[in-house]
Amino acid sequence: MSDWTFPKGDLMKGKRGLIMGVANDRSIAWGIAQQLAAQGAEIAFTYQGEALERRVRPLIESIGMSTMISADVTSDADMDAAFAALKEKFGTIDFLVHSIAFAGKDELQGSFVDNTTREGFRRTMDISVFSFVDAARRAAAMMNEGGSMVTMTYLGAERVLPSYNVMGVAKAGLEAAMRYAARDLGGKGIRVNAISAGVMRTLAMAGIKGGKQLMKAGRDWSLLREDTSMEGVAGCALYLLSPLGRSITGEVVHVDAGYHVVGVPEASEDAG
Ligand code: NAD
Repeated sequence: MSDWTFPKGDLMKGKRGLIMGVANDRSIAWGIAQQLAAQGAEIAFTYQGEALERRVRPLIESIGMSTMISADVTSDADMDAAFAALKEKFGTIDFLVHSIAFAGKDELQGSFVDNTTREGFRRTMDISVFSFVDAARRAAAMMNEGGSMVTMTYLGAERVLPSYNVMGVAKAGLEAAMRYAARDLGGKGIRVNAISAGVMRTLAMAGIKGGKQLMKAGRDWSLLREDTSMEGVAGCALYLLSPLGRSITGEVVHVDAGYHVVGVPEASEDAG
């Protein structure tokens, strides 16, 4: 199990919401769940199908939660059933965390132009972008005024990085979708933001060819010269989802030890 630590408090006391995307104890969604629970939130979870249940259930139970709903985001029937179950359980909600993405291994390597197929492109956009639009619409219908939504993105939306390919295009779409959702929902007092996390060692990252190299550069070239921490990402989610984030919407917050502002990395001492 991870050894992350999250500050306890009452910032999310009385708040209920949905977290989508816990697969195991390395998932970013799991770090966020622990941080929100430590601040008093009541959380329901969707997870990707029965195969994951054995891994996810003990995690959820370890933080005193019990509402777990199986939902593949590519299935309208699953999404209908998941949000109906959520409504029955909570009635209204205060927050949504969308932490879901997928692209095939063949697409996450080599040439973007050569390796992106029509089917791969469609599937990547469906799972990694449309699922957010779909979840935002469904969640907004039961969200209280003052509610807040967060989705997870990466620097590959803004910059070109090896192997990230079609997922970079999807993340650019996701960030634009976040801004349009923020526009639509602002009138209802609902805030919508994205966290652009640095590279972290998770299942999703393991699917990217050269992911370890991305992680090393993320650490060595970052201003803080360290890996992105789960505490930092989960803390940012808490800030955006709680009243601390009031007045912030339509924003992409980078939590990557400062990596995104670097133009040229510092020369190593022996390079002259
Ligand atoms: P993860 O593998 O733990 O999480 C990805 C989640 O997506 C899993 O829970 C998986 O079950 C879910 N998912 C995929 N296809 C699905 C489908 N059809 N239906 C329902 N769920 C589906 O990895 P993670 O790194 O925690 O990724 C979470 C989010 O964070 C993703 O959007 C990812 O792109 C983003 N992100 C990750 C990093 C990183 O370095 N790990 C950096 C920045 C952003």
